[in-house]
Amino acid sequence: MQTLTILGATGSIGCSTLDVVARHPDKYRVFALTGNSQLERLLSQAKTCSARYVVIADESRYADAQELANAMGVQSEILCGSQALEDVASAPEVDAVMAAIVGAAGLLPTLAAVKAGKRVLLANKEALVMSGALFIDAAKQSKASILPIDSEHNAIFQCLPRDFEYGNLEKSGISSILLTGSGGPFRERPLDSFSSITVEEACHHPNWSMGRKITVDSATMMNKGLEFIEACWLFGASARQIDVVLHPQSTIHSMVQYIDGSVIAQMGNPDMRTPIAYGLAFPERIEAGVSPLDFMKAGTFTFDTPCHERYPNLQLAIDACEEGQAATTRLNAANEVSVEAFLNKEIAFTDIARVNAHTLDQLEPINVSTLQQILEQDRLARETATTLIRGLR
Ligand code: NAD
Ligand code: MG
Repeated sequence: MQTLTILGATGSIGCSTLDVVARHPDKYRVFALTGNSQLERLLSQAKTCSARYVVIADESRYADAQELANAMGVQSEILCGSQALEDVASAPEVDAVMAAIVGAAGLLPTLAAVKAGKRVLLANKEALVMSGALFIDAAKQSKASILPIDSEHNAIFQCLPRDFEYGNLEKSGISSILLTGSGGPFRERPLDSFSSITVEEACHHPNWSMGRKITVDSATMMNKGLEFIEACWLFGASARQIDVVLHPQSTIHSMVQYIDGSVIAQMGNPDMRTPIAYGLAFPERIEAGVSPLDFMKAGTFTFDTPCHERYPNLQLAIDACEEGQAATTRLNAANEVSVEAFLNKEIAFTDIARVNAHTLDQLEPINVSTLQQILEQDRLARETATTLIRGLR
């Protein structure tokens, strides 16, 4: 029996995790669920899975949550605030933590789970992009196991040899990691119409159903850029060992190319319950509720090279990855601010990459290594991006 905390339970990944967990009551029990704003959903989830704790990130909602919990007959203890998020992620009773808060807000609770040596199911890629070396070093020290939940990284993890040595791709005979991406909804849209892309259009992914921020990131391919950085940290790969491949059907979730000419791919229907189930049960396999891939219906698989004019964010992220930690932290922060502004209809779709690029241009290159320095760069980049957006309005 594994005891779980699910950070970001009310989101797309959180709901899929609870779906998988509910299929295996003999294997998993829920210790804590956390959420930010959707109180009713969170409390009803807690009631269904008999969670011991519910954490509301936003402290100002505590009284509302308590009142609603009483009305709904929820038995869980209600906690609130950022310290409580870290506490339920690191509590001694907990074996595994699903890190599924979106964005930088997930960094501290995810790090708390890492430092406490938990099995960390990492969906919150932004946490790793922001803290890179610090995150990986903390995991090595505490012996936390990091299981990638991002479908691409989960696929790569499945395609690596079981005795893969972190950072030593050559020793395993690996020549490159092929990170696949669908190219999002605008892969074929004429470039001269990009500035009129609406929020509704950008929030509609052709293959995956996800939260709004990652859906917009998929449309700009910033998501693939963040995943590029994530892959470097997760597998100890250098930027030149990773290639991004467009694969619009999202059936191959990523591949590993070996020096003998073999390519190992992981495939399946685009459903996050597969990587979640793999992360939960590793090294075993459990049923996830995902329908089997029907090759007779899967049609044709196609591949292409991403066009950097169409996806300027992708190149920004690859360049930031080469530049180092301050750049990736700043890019992630600027992107969170610009995507939010786009979702609030304050800036155009094409302004997202513009704001991200200008934020990086305005800040001097520096070295960062401590958590405090990382948080300071995150703050500085948010401030810079916000000022740039004000100038655009
Ligand atoms: P979502 O927007 O659906 O859910 C986000 C969750 O985070 C919610 O539970 C929300 O309450 C919580 N949250 C938001 N702001 C918070 C704050 N300030 N403090 C505490 N909690 C807060 O997002 P999602 O699509 O489930 O994505 C979650 C993470 O997983 C992201 O990092 C995303 O990149 C990653 N991911 C998602 C998918 C997917 O299919 N959805 C796939 C791969 C990776
Ligand atoms: Mg992904």
